[in-house]
Amino acid sequence: SDRVVLGPLVGSIDQGTSSTRFLVFNAKTAELLSHHQVEIKQKFPKEGWVEQDPKEILQSVYECVEKTCEKLNQLNIDITNIKAVGVSNQRETTVVWDKTTGEPLYDAIVWLDLRTQPTVERLLKIIPGQNKSFLKTKTGLPLSTYFSAVKLRWLLDNVEEIRQAVHDGRAMFGTIDSWLIWSLTGGKNGGVHCTDVTNASRTMLFNIHSLEWDPELCHFFDVPMEILPKVRSSSEIYGLMKSGALTGVPISGCLGDQSAALVGQMCFKDGQAKNTYGTGCFLLCNTGQKPVLSEHGLLTTVAYKLGRDKPVSYALEGSVAIAGAVVRWLRDNLGIVKSSSEVEKLASEVGTSYGCYFVPAFSGLYAPYWEPTARGIICGLTQFTNKNHIAFAALEAVCFQTREILDAMNKDCGIPLSELQVDGGMTNNKILMQLQADILCIPVVKPSMPETTALGAAMAAGAAEGVGVWSLNPEDLTAVTWERFEPQINPEESEYRYARWKKAVMKSMGWEI
Ligand code: ADP
Repeated sequence: SDRVVLGPLVGSIDQGTSSTRFLVFNAKTAELLSHHQVEIKQKFPKEGWVEQDPKEILQSVYECVEKTCEKLNQLNIDITNIKAVGVSNQRETTVVWDKTTGEPLYDAIVWLDLRTQPTVERLLKIIPGQNKSFLKTKTGLPLSTYFSAVKLRWLLDNVEEIRQAVHDGRAMFGTIDSWLIWSLTGGKNGGVHCTDVTNASRTMLFNIHSLEWDPELCHFFDVPMEILPKVRSSSEIYGLMKSGALTGVPISGCLGDQSAALVGQMCFKDGQAKNTYGTGCFLLCNTGQKPVLSEHGLLTTVAYKLGRDKPVSYALEGSVAIAGAVVRWLRDNLGIVKSSSEVEKLASEVGTSYGCYFVPAFSGLYAPYWEPTARGIICGLTQFTNKNHIAFAALEAVCFQTREILDAMNKDCGIPLSELQVDGGMTNNKILMQLQADILCIPVVKPSMPETTALGAAMAAGAAEGVGVWSLNPEDLTAVTWERFEPQINPEESEYRYARWKKAVMKSMGWEI
């Protein structure tokens, strides 16, 4: 039969903490034509440690690309119409590999990992007043286990193979974007070692004003600058795919996942914000071409720079470590649901937590507290409490944590948000969306196509100089429609529950010193 004619298409690699996806979009309408997804293993070798295998991550990308292309072939869609590939990725996760063999020298240390707490404490001791915010003017970030610099420091301190490779000039450092782009563009046979400004801004080695690696920061963390990737804009041709069904196609977009979602939600104006509910939860508000420093525990981060000669945009960010991960914990550790989506059924059977509050501070608390001593608690239990209430409390915890960052964002920005744009794997959960509107007391708005992270990276790739198949004009994205969730409970009830939540948060702190 005849091939379907669609015009230019763009592929997008979305390498998240829970899974890898490859998606192909129509560059005119943003219509999602086909995709494939593979779950990624997470290893917890010690309490607080979280690792992933970089080779498994790379393999999952190859598998997703091949399977998606097979599906397109079955749909009679010509894959030679794919004009570019974008990459979006879990941020901060740290890989060091050997450029002569192409092999990772250690497992990837995942952003959630807490092994660097002693490293953070050691570094704090040499900072005047032990002030966590000491490097904030340059980096936009507080000193924390979260960012790549301390993870890299740990690797250099603890892994002999890495020290040796650095000494021999064989070591390369990268976040997941760098590892993937280097491998996909040829690896040990001429792969391109680069990252983009958004990913670089999460390492704590990057000066968010000059948009360069900062020698003083590298000196502070004692990191050799020669192992760092070259920093590029988020939208330009980095190199060509060197194997598989898409050999020869340029990789021309790269954004950390939260920046990609901001672009995919088309939050291009000052004051526009989105919240993504994946493993963690990340609320980003575009603050335009000037970085705004938070006074309420938010991060300042590079939002995007869509072209070598284009201006940079910044964002304020509220990061919550555990969102979807609490649902995965209910599934894998407690076994009270068989799949993540089953939590909706459990919660909807009761429609209340019956006074039970669940603070999932498994990795300490991120924004706005930045409290590494916090640990998870479930409180307010009675004889009556059952697994349904706990499931409900887990979903409510995600909503309360979002409320805390939205409050901080409103204080920093001065103008309160009047509605919240959302996306991410958890937004398929309708109870969660309704609860979120109830707890924020503002409408929650969800795009019909929830894969906004992948869409953002595809847009950046399609718009790159030398590709030029995507206009970035929001009006063109005719395939995107919106679903609204309006608040349904009265604000007093909402405030009451929020106050109880805050009480529970106070009880979660100070467990681990
Ligand atoms: P990431 O980008 O961090 O890999 P995703 O956006 O793919 O995450 O979302 C996956 C997370 O969302 C998992 O932690 C999973 O437990 C959770 N999740 C997925 N579907 C649902 C659902 N219907 N209800 C609640 N949580 C869900």
